Amino acid sequence: MPIEAADMDEATERLRCFLRDRRLRVTAERLALLQVVLRTEGHFDADKMVARVRRGRGKVSRATIYRTLGLLERCGILRRSPRTYGRGLYETALGRRPHDHIFCAKCGRIEEFYEERVERIQRSIARRLGYRILEHVHEIVGLCRECRRAAGAAER
Ligand SMILES: [Zn+2]
Ligand SMILES: [Zn+2]
Repeated sequence: MPIEAADMDEATERLRCFLRDRRLRVTAERLALLQVVLRTEGHFDADKMVARVRRGRGKVSRATIYRTLGLLERCGILRRSPRTYGRGLYETALGRRPHDHIFCAKCGRIEEFYEERVERIQRSIARRLGYRILEHVHEIVGLCRECRRAAGAAER
């Protein structure tokens, strides 16, 4: 699902404020990278972003891209998903409905799921313990069907 124009504007404004507050420069490079990031669907790592930017007109250095992704994460435009296994994957945090991840420990495929029952249980646990939920991370790590099939074939 592509990001909407309103979310693009919100993200741009958020990045500008974030950079200004920290006395960092609002450069054309950073703003251009933000556009590429927001148009990228699903989960991606920094190297994939480097390749994407280079395919475009970008002459942005790898270091700048890595640094900018870090800034985008800190200002809440991107988040790391999943967080376990140190995969270093990002996804946009804006304009997305909450969802959880299941991923394969072997080939790295990631799928998203939303389960109202999981959400409801989390809310009731938080309520019982007197918390207001700011965010939650729920991740399932497993072996996908293809990897299980491949492993089974090797065993036979
Ligand atoms: Zn797999
Ligand atoms: Zn996701």
